Amino acid sequence: MSLIVMKFGGTSVATVERIRVVAQHVKREVDAGHKVAVVVSAMSGVTNQLVAWVKEANELYDPREYDTVVASGEQVTSGLTAIALQKIGVKARSWQGWQIPIKTDAAHGSARMIDIPGNALLASMASGEVAVIAGFQGVEADGERIATLGRGGSDTSAVAIAAALKADLCDIYTDVDGVYTTDPRMVPKAKRMDKISYEEMLEMASLGAKVLQIRSVELAMVQGVRLRVRSSFVAPDQLKPFKLGEHSDVGTFVCDEDEIVEKHVVSGIAYAKDEAKVTLFGIEDKPGVAAAIFGPLAETNINVDMIVQNVSEDGKSTAMTFTVPAADLARSLDVVKAHKSKIGYRELKAATDVVKVSVIGIGMRSHAGVASSMFKALSSKGINIEAISTSEIKISVLISADYTELAVRTLHTLYGLDA
Ligand code: ASP
Ligand code: MG
Repeated sequence: MSLIVMKFGGTSVATVERIRVVAQHVKREVDAGHKVAVVVSAMSGVTNQLVAWVKEANELYDPREYDTVVASGEQVTSGLTAIALQKIGVKARSWQGWQIPIKTDAAHGSARMIDIPGNALLASMASGEVAVIAGFQGVEADGERIATLGRGGSDTSAVAIAAALKADLCDIYTDVDGVYTTDPRMVPKAKRMDKISYEEMLEMASLGAKVLQIRSVELAMVQGVRLRVRSSFVAPDQLKPFKLGEHSDVGTFVCDEDEIVEKHVVSGIAYAKDEAKVTLFGIEDKPGVAAAIFGPLAETNINVDMIVQNVSEDGKSTAMTFTVPAADLARSLDVVKAHKSKIGYRELKAATDVVKVSVIGIGMRSHAGVASSMFKALSSKGINIEAISTSEIKISVLISADYTELAVRTLHTLYGLDA
């Protein structure tokens, strides 16, 4: 017998009919003898509607009341899921964040979890009940007010609960059947990965492969929670119940890299279109210039990603290129202009028709030549690289957005990822 957490996202609980399917997935695991804690999102679209109502009532709303309203979507699905389970003979009860209690800080709208005592849940589960927990919500540790964890937060709820209950696995059920080597809508030859390490998943997620909330992956990595991403749209009897130590090939495991025997040099290709490029021409080549540019940007909470500084030919003036999230471009330009005299540049240019394409793989740590093969392949397609950044397990290039698909496909083939 194992203890597992099963999390179902918004599309998986979008209607009562879908919730009946969820109940069958849960029953499969209960029948296999497992203790199960279920974590649910709100029905898809509901949280957006709730947020819209709050803003309609008052743009300058009280964040505590915002949380009271938006947490209600998960209250509905937790109750409905418990009812659907009871209907098919599975003992179940719903739990709201405050009943467990999932204690959070007071940052309403994007609260952080501080502590989750597992005893009440464990006692209920020991009596044979499935615990159906409302995701996305908790309660302020030193108050009685409901708090929510930030949009998409129910993934993080599930991981935190899995850690608190020392679960053997946290299954994330969604509308895709796993994590792919790249965006399957762009590259039909993309493959579902059997396993991916936490670190690779973080890189993939932060680069736009939005299967899991980034915070949930960070938490899983820190707490050592094994995750599996799979689809709730597969017929419940088509999936085998969980068995400790057995590796099912249905879904993608997100786990410690020690568990991955065959480490791919490149596991996946990600791309991010929401980048903007800023270039400062005619800046002086002397100490303090970079600090004069990036200090004020950091103070304004703008996250600079790639940075390229040219070497000056005459020893005096040079150019600096960097990228920021496209949503922050206008603010970034304001900041740079406001500090023009201190930075001392001649000309400022910005562009949003760029994309960042990245190759990611833990095998890169022990392999030379990944960057050079990447650059060669891109140049053979006539793709110009405007900026480069690297980490131990990732190489990113900034290119013209017109070449996104060509670049992603070329690299997917180059590193042997095509199905
Ligand atoms: N219902 C919340 C949202 O839409 C939380 C979640 O779905 O993860 O953001
Ligand atoms: Mg979600």
